[in-house]
Amino acid sequence: MKSLLLAAACAAVFAVPAVAADLAHDAVAVRDRALSDPTAWNILESVTTEVGPRPVGTPAMARARDWGVATLKAMGFENVRVEPFETRAWVRGTESAEVISPYPQKLAILGLGGSASTPPGGLEAEIVVFPSYQALLDQPAGALKGKIAVVTQVMRKTQGIAGYGSGVQPRAFGAAEAAKRGAVGFLLRSVSTDDTRLPHTGAMNGEPGIPAAALSTPDAELLEHMAARGQPIRVRLNMTSTVIPKAASWSVVGELTGRTNPKEVIVVGGHLDSWDPGTGAIDDGAGVAIATAAARLAATTGERPRRTIRVVMWGSEEQGGSGEAYAAAHKDEAAGIVLAGESDLGGDEIFQARLPKGSMAHPAMKAFMAAAPGLKVIISRDPAADGGSDTEGLHALGVPVVDFDQDASRYFDLHHSADDTLDKVDPKKLAQNVATWASFLRVVADSDIDFRALAKP
Ligand code: ZN
Ligand code: ZN
Repeated sequence: MKSLLLAAACAAVFAVPAVAADLAHDAVAVRDRALSDPTAWNILESVTTEVGPRPVGTPAMARARDWGVATLKAMGFENVRVEPFETRAWVRGTESAEVISPYPQKLAILGLGGSASTPPGGLEAEIVVFPSYQALLDQPAGALKGKIAVVTQVMRKTQGIAGYGSGVQPRAFGAAEAAKRGAVGFLLRSVSTDDTRLPHTGAMNGEPGIPAAALSTPDAELLEHMAARGQPIRVRLNMTSTVIPKAASWSVVGELTGRTNPKEVIVVGGHLDSWDPGTGAIDDGAGVAIATAAARLAATTGERPRRTIRVVMWGSEEQGGSGEAYAAAHKDEAAGIVLAGESDLGGDEIFQARLPKGSMAHPAMKAFMAAAPGLKVIISRDPAADGGSDTEGLHALGVPVVDFDQDASRYFDLHHSADDTLDKVDPKKLAQNVATWASFLRVVADSDIDFRALAKP
């Protein structure tokens, strides 16, 4: 009986193609090497220390470009190049806000990307406080004439991005909706889950034509307390900014060329640009570091894989433009791009993998699944739907995407604020994230998995 069971077990093992067993072995080897590899941390320490904040339209972005080229070359990447494009950039000037009456005191604000400047000398007006975005939308035309609209809707903390997905609506559209109803200014409780006095910036959907800024969460609550007393509250805003219609920007690219099928390319990356108050550590220095380190680990553990792994440091995610520019420049090549993915949710652990549609039973994905339990990564039954905003253009051209869900429960305490700094990144969690990407990249790069064919019903 025992030997029968053993024979059955052996048959099961031998039924797996040799190549799959090799892939599984490699996925585990890459994972284990990545878990103690300091490369991602070193990249992140380097970009935050030597470049710092990297807003598009500022000289820092050119320094980031040079840093990216030097970093990829020093790490042994091939075909290192800069891909230039132009994009509309909003650059912050000076900003202040204060309550004038009846309880004069300063407010902590940060302008939102796309905000108008106030008139010289500032803008003073009465505020109207809305506890939800919907309450603002419910106002009829003209109801906010001459007022500063204040939305104090609270963002929900979630493990994934669901809280942000719904919480970001008032930041994206609130100022434009307020302007439509006659408002002369817009203030928003930061789209954030923290309770510090640091506001969180971020882009709006276009330019609403009025000054618009985020309040820190305690300042939003302060205005609620004042409003509850029933007297008119007057606020003064002073904000300046510049719009550069065609700002020069760049994506930085490097490759680890495939051993036998170099024209089959896996595109992976993060975005090099950042907002200005912090040093862009979690958003998205971490993503750049994770993708770069993972690509190198995947390509240099054992024999060079069959396919090319290309790292892209996209140059304008926050204000938009780099994903579109990349897709436009690479549309003729898109059919040869095996897969695309972007890391853009900080440096904490990946808890779930959403694989490309229809691919779960393929030996290469089975090999990745051999490495996943050791990382405590679960495999979702739902396929990847979104590979990150810079991959959307490629996805629209038919390029399959992968989506790793990572723990974002701390991310929105920090993101787009002055607290987005290196000390917030945990090297152990960062290494788990890199190990997940690296083992996945290894099996995709060293197999013949065809995600397009597998996605067909
Ligand atoms: Zn980002
Ligand atoms: Zn961001």
